[in-house]
Amino acid sequence: MRPEALNPLFVETEALEGVGPKLRKPLEKLGLSRVRDIIFHLPERFVTRRAIADLDAGSEGEQIIVALTPIEHRSSSGRGPYRVLAQDEAGNVCSLTYFGRASFSAKKLLPVGEKRWVAGRLDRYGDILQIVHPDHVVEDGGDTLGRLSEPVYRLSEGLTQPKVAGLVEQALARLPEMPEWIERAQLAKEGWPDWADALRAAHKSEDAGPRDRLAYDELLANSLALMLVRADNRARKGQPLRGDGSYRGKLQLPFPLTGAQTRSIAEIEGDLQQEAPMLRLLQGDVGAGKTVVALEAMLIAVEAGAQAAMLAPTEILARQHYETLRTMAAPTGAQVALLTGRDKGRARESILMGLMDGSIQIVVGTHAIFQDTVNYRNLGLVVIDEQHRFGVAQRLMLASKGRRTPHTLAMTATPIPRTLTLAQYGEMDVSRLDEMPPGRQAIDTRVVAQERLPDVVEAVGRHVASGQQAYWVCPMVRDNETDDIAAAEARYASLHERFGEDVVLVHGQLKPEMKDAAMERFASGAAKLLVATTVIEVGVDVPASTLMVIEQAERFGLAQLHQLRGRVGRGSEKSTCLLLRGSTMSETARERLALMRETQDGFLLAEEDLRLRGGGELLGTRQSGDTPFRVATLEQITRLLPLAHDDARLLMERDGGLSGPRGEAARMLLYLFDRDWGVQMLRGG
Ligand code: ADP
Ligand code: MG
Repeated sequence: MRPEALNPLFVETEALEGVGPKLRKPLEKLGLSRVRDIIFHLPERFVTRRAIADLDAGSEGEQIIVALTPIEHRSSSGRGPYRVLAQDEAGNVCSLTYFGRASFSAKKLLPVGEKRWVAGRLDRYGDILQIVHPDHVVEDGGDTLGRLSEPVYRLSEGLTQPKVAGLVEQALARLPEMPEWIERAQLAKEGWPDWADALRAAHKSEDAGPRDRLAYDELLANSLALMLVRADNRARKGQPLRGDGSYRGKLQLPFPLTGAQTRSIAEIEGDLQQEAPMLRLLQGDVGAGKTVVALEAMLIAVEAGAQAAMLAPTEILARQHYETLRTMAAPTGAQVALLTGRDKGRARESILMGLMDGSIQIVVGTHAIFQDTVNYRNLGLVVIDEQHRFGVAQRLMLASKGRRTPHTLAMTATPIPRTLTLAQYGEMDVSRLDEMPPGRQAIDTRVVAQERLPDVVEAVGRHVASGQQAYWVCPMVRDNETDDIAAAEARYASLHERFGEDVVLVHGQLKPEMKDAAMERFASGAAKLLVATTVIEVGVDVPASTLMVIEQAERFGLAQLHQLRGRVGRGSEKSTCLLLRGSTMSETARERLALMRETQDGFLLAEEDLRLRGGGELLGTRQSGDTPFRVATLEQITRLLPLAHDDARLLMERDGGLSGPRGEAARMLLYLFDRDWGVQMLRGG
């Protein structure tokens, strides 16, 4: 149970003044559903503004405060912005520009003829000055705005800086008294403030100390939780699985295994024979051949009289794995089934029966395979594909499925930098597929300007005409998923005009049946061109597809581009990847695309990704989904994790049951960062 002291932090945001159903949505979009989330929503950066008498005194790109009088409101037809033209004392005109729903507030805030103080970034649009989405518009007191260094928070549509700052202030006023979980000596050595002070400071200034302390807290919580899992796992009883080779011997693989595959299988085989449940990560770049390793592992379980279950993160992937595994396993006689959330009625009943009586030996599916209603006769091995898509909590839920704890094999293609491996998988043993199957050709990667889109379409046309297939990836760039899907649909529509029934579309909001139908037409070769949002990032395997176009490639991170590109170059045919880029690109984006052209080594790209981003903005950038952390940036992880890791180990050695005073404090910490699954590990003693 969560310690009571934490309750004020775990109430929903609606407990804060001014948050109603309307504000809830934009907050949730940022992952902010509880007061605790608000306090950890740290500023992305800080601005200091300069008050200027008139626009002539400001320079482009500068954060300014200026008194302006609106002279005209101009709404545009269609999707264009809403503009309020306003004049300064000297008669210079500037456009205050609003996109989307933000224009509603502009109408109220900026009545024509009434002077207002406006704070924001001065830019130029064509030959007029403009401020896009001013941060503040106030009637008086504008001159005081300039004295402060002001936090800038990440926003979503419907939120403003002052609104978020107000919520943060309310949330900070509710901070409960917390015991200290960091060693006193450590605090003193680093000169870090206590928890509450660190939080207040992190919202007020750029000082590194407070932020480091909070990041360290999170890393400590993570390391500690992973160590608790590990300790718990060591104490559990599993069932030793010893295969006699009777099923594996009948496999007729169309290729010899690589050395790395053989080695990984041997490592897994060794683990499975132990009574302590296996907790192993199989890490291998895209296309390294993880699936067949999983199959061999599952067949060992079957030979030993147990069942194996394979969990996939998406429906598409589950189906694809099912087809692959069923085909490969056919000569062995092992019974393979597919179970997803979509199976209903009779079909579902019969699969459930088969799992209960043991006639189904291998099941592949989405998390439906671990619902309460699903019972196994003897589940011995759980394989989790694309592990990074699942949290540790889910992993543990699976582990509780068998009478005895099943062995776990987690697989990931994410080439995680070494520093992150420790953070993310610290509790697991690791096997690496560091060798690609032979005969793979390098993917010819080129960066192409967006203006050359017509040429690209023609190139795709020639490619398809020659009988080959292609992917066309539309980015998820805006905060707004609906807009992205609209963009993908528009692209599909235009390509459909050119390619007719040869092109299919897949995105996250399509009805499942339609998604399947599209994927099936593409996988079977009936459709030649697959237009998709990044849903295809994970695991899709259609070796005959040898061309990939990625639109607005500059908006993707290196790791993601690498994952996407990994969908081609899977067969022995030469593959090509065209990275379309817009006309404005940051230096970092330019470097990223150059790296993509130069190398295909996932580990190298991951390290470079870390470097490029670590050296970026002062406070570091956080992209959700990158790491399992909400506070710690990549740079902080690299720097502080080893420290936190050692500290956690020391604490475990002294007080593995977390029962002393510092242990009690550490329990609080685990809850604070949603690592309470670590605490649950303590129940057994
Ligand atoms: P990933 O590691 O990305 O999951 P897959 O398991 O999907 O990779 O394998 C990628 C492709 O490589 C598949 O088409 C698979 O059949 C093929 N493959 C796997 N192992 C080998 C091998 N040893 N030799 C040749 N091809 C292989
Ligand atoms: Mg895979």
